[in-house]
Amino acid sequence: MPFLLSSYVTLSSSPATFSVRTPGLVPTGIAPVRVPPLRYVCPMPICVVCAAWGHGPLCPECRSQLRAAKPVMRSGLVVSSGLFHEKSARRLVHLLKYQGLDAAGVVLGQIMAAQVPPGVSTLVPVPRAWARRLRYGVDPARVLARRVGAIAGVEVVEAVGAEVWWPSHAGSDRSSRRPPEFRLVGVVPPGSALVDDVVTTGATLAAAGRITGIHQALTATRADCPSFE
Ligand SMILES: [Zn+2]
Repeated sequence: MPFLLSSYVTLSSSPATFSVRTPGLVPTGIAPVRVPPLRYVCPMPICVVCAAWGHGPLCPECRSQLRAAKPVMRSGLVVSSGLFHEKSARRLVHLLKYQGLDAAGVVLGQIMAAQVPPGVSTLVPVPRAWARRLRYGVDPARVLARRVGAIAGVEVVEAVGAEVWWPSHAGSDRSSRRPPEFRLVGVVPPGSALVDDVVTTGATLAAAGRITGIHQALTATRADCPSFE
């Protein structure tokens, strides 16, 4: 069972990088996929995504599905995302978000750490609604911010407070979405970037940006289609 791996996972501090080409997945004109080394120490070499034996943390098939995403403007913020929200990357987000699998957070955190924008010295996670945090037992942005902060040597400040509940954006029509209302619960230092698991329209990030004055964000994945869950 994949979730059993979480207690055995530790991070490597190696800063080395490498390039992975994915024939057939990278459209012409887009740079080859670049992801940082994905390493962990585990007694069992199992793929975090598909549980294939013999490879960890990702098997060659799941690794080949990763496509790096370049920074974009979303709702007035510059958003840097590690990967496109598809295939094994989407599965990694869901494993963290809905099953609380720490190993998925480890993998995504390593990829995001390579995307921290220059000049960013503080990460501010965009909190999950309290009702969902209790239901799923995890606040994905908080987990990712801490993973990235530990790897990149960047401070994490939990300066944004969440509502008890707001309508989920997952799979909903854009026109019916209501951005959540956040509250400021801490001091936001200069050079801060928001952290979230997924960005689509950027409405959630924009809501957090309005109360913090932050204009840049880092997410694990970026979804470009209306229905992404
Ligand atoms: Zn796999």
